[in-house]
Parts: sequence; C-alpha cells; structure tokens
Amino acid sequence: MTLQEKDSQYLWHPYTQHKTSQTPIAISRGEGALLWDENNKEYIDAIASWWVNPFGHSNKFIADAIYKQLTTLEHVLFGGFTHEPAIKVAEKLMEILPKNQQKIFFSDNGSTAVEVAIKVALQYFFNKGEKRTTIIAFENAFHGDTFAAMAASGISFYTQAFQGMFIDVVRIPVPVKGQEQVSFEALENVIQRNNCAGFIFEPLVQGAAGMVMYEPEALAKLIEICKENKVLTIADEVMTGFGKTGKTFAMDYVDADPDMICLSKALTGGTIPMAITTFTQKVFDAFYDDDINKALFHGHTFTANPTGCAAALASIDLLQTDEMQTNIERINKNHLEFQKKIESHPKVITARTLGVIFAVEIKSDSEESYYGSMRTKLYNFFIENGVVLRPVGNIVYILPPYIMTNEQLQKVYKTIEEAIEMV
Ligand SMILES: *Cc1c(COP(=O)(O)O)cnc(C)c1O
Repeated sequence: MTLQEKDSQYLWHPYTQHKTSQTPIAISRGEGALLWDENNKEYIDAIASWWVNPFGHSNKFIADAIYKQLTTLEHVLFGGFTHEPAIKVAEKLMEILPKNQQKIFFSDNGSTAVEVAIKVALQYFFNKGEKRTTIIAFENAFHGDTFAAMAASGISFYTQAFQGMFIDVVRIPVPVKGQEQVSFEALENVIQRNNCAGFIFEPLVQGAAGMVMYEPEALAKLIEICKENKVLTIADEVMTGFGKTGKTFAMDYVDADPDMICLSKALTGGTIPMAITTFTQKVFDAFYDDDINKALFHGHTFTANPTGCAAALASIDLLQTDEMQTNIERINKNHLEFQKKIESHPKVITARTLGVIFAVEIKSDSEESYYGSMRTKLYNFFIENGVVLRPVGNIVYILPPYIMTNEQLQKVYKTIEEAIEMV
C-alpha cells in the first residue's frame, strides 16, 4: 500500500471534507523551497507550508540548534521553573519588537496566542472591576480555531456550526482604500454602544481572507481611537510576523503601538510548534497583585518548551542576517515586476504586493466561495504542475520561503499566468 492509501484508513485532515476531496499527497522529504512526494515528484512550496517556513525545509542551522537543545535540556515544566532558552528568546524579542512590549507569554500555536490575548483583555478589566466584555474584530478576520479565536474570526466557513455559543464580538469593516472613513466611524459607534475590552486585528494584511491589504495610516488611526477609549489593542502578527511584510513586523510600518502582539507560524522557522503573546507593562501590572485570583490562570503543558525556544532563537538569527534581508527585498522586487505585468490582464481584477506577499484576484462569472469550483480547478492545476498554492476562492496568493530562487519564483509566476488562461 502507498502512504496515500494508508492515510485514508486512519487520518482526519484539517479543513477537509473527506467524502469529496482528493487523497492528500504524501510528502517524503523537503529541502529549501522544494518538496518531494512518495513517487519522487517535485513541488515548489510557494506558500511556505501555511506561511511557517521562511528559511527552507530541513534547514540545517535550525536543525543543529534543535539537536543541541534536545541533548542538553529537551523540556522542563515552566510552572515554578525557568531556563536560558526562554530568557534568551525574551531578550531577543525585546530587541526587535515595538518598544512598548515588555512581557512575553508562551503557548503552542497561533490560536492559543490569540486565545491568551483575548482572555487577558477580558480579565484585565475584570481585575480592575470594570465591566467590559465585548471584543472588536474586522470583517473576514481570521484568528484561529479555538473558541475565543474562532469567535473573533469572521469567515463563516470556520464558525457557522457554533453561532450563538461565542463570547461577544462586534465586527467593523476593514479600512481598505476608500473605506477608511467608514471603518473609523464604525469603530467609534461600536465603542459607544458596547462595553469594549479589546480590538483584535491582523495588521496590514488579512491572510486567510485572501491577503486583503490596507494602509498603516488607517490602522494607526483605529488604534488611536481605541487608546482614547481605553480599549486594549491586539495585533495578531501570527501570519505577518518575522519579515513577511518586508519589515520584521507589520507593526513596524504603523505609527502607533498595540497593547499586545500574537506571534507563531514563522517564529520557529517552521520546525517546532510554538507561539508567544507579548504585552505592555501596563497590561501585566493589572494582574500583579497580592490577590492570587488576579493572576492569569492560563497555561499549556508544553509552555516555553526549550527545544522550541532554541528553534526560535536560530530562526531569528537567520532572519537578521544580511543574506535573508536581501532575499526578502529580492522577492519583493520580483513580485512588483510580476504585479505590473499581470494587473492589466483582462482576466485579472487586481493584484497586490507587500514584502514577500503577493496576491492576484481573478475574474469569475459567478460569485466565488472560499472552497468553490474555481478554487478547486486552480488548486488542481497548480498541483499537476508541481507548484503548491492554495487559492482562496478566486484569489491566488504567493507567500514563498525567503530562500526561494529567482528561477523557482519565475516558474511559480508562469504557472499562475497559465492558470489564469485556463480558468
Ligand atoms: C494561522 C493564523 C492563526 C492561527 O494559528 P494556528 O497556529 O493555525 O492556530 C491566527 N491568526 C492568524 C493571523 C493566522 O494567520
């Protein structure tokens, strides 16, 4: 039996309707931007395996750091204990995060990083004896699949079975070009009508919505409105963090600092699941008290796993090399050229680029749903041609590992052009 055949016997895959979807492709190895399946067919990983892998598959530098940590101290509980890898990650993040971030809290994945931020926003006001229980989020936001993160998410595919069981979330429009004022006014209204604790957003790029982009000035204004009304702000940088937007964090473009930041995905270079939520001193201080009940009673068994920390340190080291910064600029330049070339195509609605993120919206006769027929056609075409891309409806996006070569990039562009002709 092939791996593909054995898989269907036991495995339940994420976001998959097993009755109608094709059998998953069994990948047996990866190197750089390439993956090979069990039949040795080669694929270019043009989405960095769900945006986690900036430095290439089977990266030796990170692997060595992980091995060294595994054979020194693989894990120790973080309740009542601490260790150097966690402290070093904290020190490193203090160097690169917006200056107002002072405390870091570890968990295991993007959803838990968000879950922690939302719980902290709610308990912050509980600890102060103030009734504020509403969370503000963008339309079409994606913040993860655990309950509070899912409540904040606005893509109905992921949440419709659970309507009516969520914490209070009120949505405002994304301030895309021309809609800024509508978004500002919606935020003012929501804050006036509800007891708002926090505002969570994907800064500058909404990933799962299809790389929807908006300007830093608009986000700065929204954060300012929250500050005036003492609403805590949460930047979900799970996707945008660690270089994707061309700067270390998307918030580096924004002239306003959030109260909390969520990190995961590229944090460990796509090796070990880990996440971090960071906070200002002001947020931490609301939990600092003689009363034990004011503490944050949240934790995960693998909190601050030393091996994960070692992977994160090695990843951030790689990100900071001149070579990687040059790679990010190189990919951005290529994207911009491709954007120029493709945006006037009669079948293209728009194309957009920020950092290493590129997206193109393809014209379609019918309303395209998230997992609709055009999406399936496009996805299959890409896979046949050895390129891993997961379109969102009629939107095709590229989010490559930073080490992808120009030749590989050109093949990805060419395959997208052919796909546009095909649909
Ligand atoms: C992927 C993602 C999450 C959820 O992360 P998981 O590790 O999949 O739980 C949260 N927020 C954003 C912006 C994401 O892109």
